[in-house]
Amino acid sequence: MPTSFYTAPGKFYRGNLHTHSDRSDGVLDPQEVCQRYHAEGYDFISLTDHFVGLYDYPITDTSNYRDNGFTTILGAEMHTGAMSNGLIWHLLAIGLPADFTPPDAPNFVSHDSSETGASVAQRARDAGAFVAIAHPHWSRMTEADAHSITAAHAVEIYNHGCAVDNDRGESLMVLDHLLDQGNHLNLIATDDAHFNTPDHFGGWVMVKATENSPEALLAALKAGEFYSSLGPQIDDIRVGDDYVEVDCSACVTIIVQGRGTGTATVHGASMTTGHLSRERLGSSPWLRVTVIDRAGKRAWSNPVWVGD
Ligand SMILES: [Zn+2]
Ligand SMILES: [Zn+2]
Repeated sequence: MPTSFYTAPGKFYRGNLHTHSDRSDGVLDPQEVCQRYHAEGYDFISLTDHFVGLYDYPITDTSNYRDNGFTTILGAEMHTGAMSNGLIWHLLAIGLPADFTPPDAPNFVSHDSSETGASVAQRARDAGAFVAIAHPHWSRMTEADAHSITAAHAVEIYNHGCAVDNDRGESLMVLDHLLDQGNHLNLIATDDAHFNTPDHFGGWVMVKATENSPEALLAALKAGEFYSSLGPQIDDIRVGDDYVEVDCSACVTIIVQGRGTGTATVHGASMTTGHLSRERLGSSPWLRVTVIDRAGKRAWSNPVWVGD
């Protein structure tokens, strides 16, 4: 029997997990941010304002902007402690309780007595949050930096704001190194929208849940029941002993990646399914899938662990 990726009941809900408002350095107020995402066909967002003293440690309450077709998950982008380059950590915490105790982070500069990034990430995870390492390329973190955040559920491998504004939006290399070292991490694509540049509606997650509620979405995020996209859909992935099959929206390329240099690729026209041999993936303990459409837009599955 092949291992299917998306076996949980429910349907896919589209969401953006990294967003700012004027409660920190975004341009729009929280209600307007929610309205715009709703109007663009999103099912949910997490407003993740910068959790520093400069902005009064906001965990912005967006619950008033929920309705039948749209929901919100409380969250924040946390900052504390220094990476090896001396710059402060940026860590996403989705599903943070409103009374989460802030680190001593007056602004975006780490100080000698700062809580470490690893510590605040662990506290956020223990408090029930889905934790992601934000924009590794933009932050210029090392693999060792990323490796130190042991509480992370995911790596933000696509950040649309960073892609649009400084061409440092992609961080698949950091993720793949961590996977090769045996870290069971998922991946997310986000906007990091501030609405002061064309930094919105570019990257999102598709979360499979039984209902569009903050609780169900958060549980599905933690369980890895989602994929990330800049456009294409991934409907199903089946992993057999010697093959991988992918069902998706019309695409021109399907790739399966694994440990080291292991990859398998099929190119075609308007493909909605692909059958790829695992021969060149060797004995990789993990596999993940990329789908690319005619416009060059990509979607990424989470890794699936198929061995030790
Ligand atoms: Zn950031
Ligand atoms: Zn941000």
